[in-house]
Amino acid sequence: MKIIDTHTHLNAEQFKSDLDQVILKSQRAGVFKVFNNADSLESFFSIMDLRSKYPGFCEAVLGIHPEFALQDDEYFKSAFDFIKKNRAKIKAIGEIGLDYHYSKDLNLKNRQKQIFIEQIRLAKTLDLPIVIHSRDADFDTLNIIKEELPPIIDLHCFSGSYEIYREYIKIPIKTFFGIGGVVTFKNAKVIKEIVEKGDIKTFLTETDAPYLTPTPFRGERNDPSYLPYVIKTISELKKLDIDETSKILLNNGEEFYGIDQD
Ligand SMILES: [Zn+2]
Repeated sequence: MKIIDTHTHLNAEQFKSDLDQVILKSQRAGVFKVFNNADSLESFFSIMDLRSKYPGFCEAVLGIHPEFALQDDEYFKSAFDFIKKNRAKIKAIGEIGLDYHYSKDLNLKNRQKQIFIEQIRLAKTLDLPIVIHSRDADFDTLNIIKEELPPIIDLHCFSGSYEIYREYIKIPIKTFFGIGGVVTFKNAKVIKEIVEKGDIKTFLTETDAPYLTPTPFRGERNDPSYLPYVIKTISELKKLDIDETSKILLNNGEEFYGIDQD
């Protein structure tokens, strides 16, 4: 099985002591490429370091997560300048978006929207795909995408309903949905329904490691070597052979990130 992890955080503190082993274990499980997604400006540097240290395996996706939306304009200028300067070394802008989980404050929501839109426009200018984080913000995210129409997006760890899934599919852009450990959870009815009824060509394999570890390892630290459990669950829900499923999912990931397919 050939697998890519389209959304992960191997730069996280949790991997400091044993990253070499984690990568070896992941490669043995069939993973040949992972996309480390940034959250803060600080994370840009650790992600670029991993890219240099594990060339061809660790790829870089840079952007500012909505939880940092209250940083000042200078912070964003530094982040955007860094991205522009390193355009040739990065594969997408992410993870960017809206997160209303911990704040219902209107000013904060507006600031998140403004930063999200600025980064979508940056991605369009640089001709890069976008990895989106949307939590408790389904309609605002959907509306911004409808207005801005970036040509290609990934709604990472998709948490919307099947109705929201269908709304995205109607937009005349290329939209993918990141499917990770949650799909293996017994009570995750909504995402199971989306995988069942949705088009397999719209799904991407992701871990969001170190979080969201699939069953039967739920609660432990997640890493890309657990992706076969996610693929197996998707194949069962789609009633497809597991090799066939993994091939389609690999193709989707390669299409999203513009990796040469052969
Ligand atoms: Zn993430």
